[in-house]
Amino acid sequence: MTVEQVDCVVIGAGVVGLAVARALALTGREVLVLESESAIGTRTSSRNSEVIHAGLYYPPGSLKARLCVRGKALLYDYLAERDLPHRRCGKLVVATSTEQIGALDAIQAGAAANGVMDLRRLTRDEALQREPALHCAAALHSPSTGILDSHAFMLSLLGDLERAGGVLVLKTPVVGAKQAGDAIVLEAADGTRLAAHTVVNAAGLQAPHLARRFRQMPPACLPQPAFAKGSYFSLSGRAPFSHLIYPVPEAAGLGVHLTLDLAGQARFGPDVEWVDDPDDLAVDPRRAPAFEAEVRKYWPGLPRGALVPAYAGMRPKIHGPHEAAADFLIQGPRQHGVPGLVHLFGIESPGLTSALAIGELVTDSLFL
Ligand SMILES: Cc1cc2nc3c(=O)[nH]c(=O)nc-3n(C[C@H](O)[C@H](O)[C@H](O)COP(=O)(O)OP(=O)(O)OC[C@H]3O[C@@H](n4cnc5c(N)ncnc54)[C@H](O)[C@@H]3O)c2cc1C
Repeated sequence: MTVEQVDCVVIGAGVVGLAVARALALTGREVLVLESESAIGTRTSSRNSEVIHAGLYYPPGSLKARLCVRGKALLYDYLAERDLPHRRCGKLVVATSTEQIGALDAIQAGAAANGVMDLRRLTRDEALQREPALHCAAALHSPSTGILDSHAFMLSLLGDLERAGGVLVLKTPVVGAKQAGDAIVLEAADGTRLAAHTVVNAAGLQAPHLARRFRQMPPACLPQPAFAKGSYFSLSGRAPFSHLIYPVPEAAGLGVHLTLDLAGQARFGPDVEWVDDPDDLAVDPRRAPAFEAEVRKYWPGLPRGALVPAYAGMRPKIHGPHEAAADFLIQGPRQHGVPGLVHLFGIESPGLTSALAIGELVTDSLFL
């Protein structure tokens, strides 16, 4: 069987794979994107909050912190330059009791360490002036948090990729890989073989599983995947808020928060439910009472029965429920020793915000 030759292959056409492929193509390299599904961005990239995160919560110096802050700046510039739908609506992080006010101080200090200097502490009255329906003891205002149309963003990335000569191939799951000389030979489900100098594994939830197919990968470098589902409920009726409203964060997520889409529709979520099956994406309507209880802590006026099951997303975790939260894990040849290979593991939130910065990092000579 003939083996086609290509310079770079990116596996996965979610927002991160597309951003990486675009960045590689813009450096003049030949790029092919292989995607299992029949369209781009059908997995986690279309099952999230579509929030442009400011970079408040992540440990200083972590990849999440650095790539979120850098990605946010790149993303706002990109969206503005191309006139893509987005809004810098700002968010309020709310302490719903006086005991939580210390947590706001900690968030503000952490954000400053990440270079996010624009947070402003609001008293209860100042917060209520902005959002009269809110219940809180105090709040933090983050003016650089926003929302975007993630599909318009992904289509634009694909357009850039194709204009730079890159090619997207749909319905082509990669099922195997091995080193052959200075190339990596990938095998697709239909038996097609491709030899590439550079391969980027951007397979999202499947990235750790796919990495095990690369026979030269040292076992110690292979993270154990775990899946944390996040369900959303939408609000039937008009949203009472103009900012995004976030509680003080909890263990594995940011708490059941209120986000708005660009049409002004409100949705609440995501909660955290550890599951075994990454395809378990049904929203259980029986979770509604727990959502109502969480939301009423900051919006006591939530009408009874106003929450409607919407959709769920799956966080591609690389730590278990009882372990400390993991950082993004971006492994190149320096980490695992396989020339030309980059794995993107654990790209959960803020991966959408960080996508352009991840593209920049992967094209950096440190990894290739
Ligand atoms: C509930 C939730 C809320 C979130 N909210 C936000 C937010 O508000 N802001 C933010 O910045 N981030 C958010 N995120 C994170 C963000 O959605 C993700 O980081 C981002 O979408 C990941 O993109 P990706 O391209 O890595 O993965 P994916 O979108 O999952 O793409 C991976 C692609 O690889 C393909 N694939 C898999 N295996 C193979 C294979 N063997 N061969 C070929 N193709 C393959 C899949 O079909 C898929 O299209 C959220 C995540 C979740 C789960």
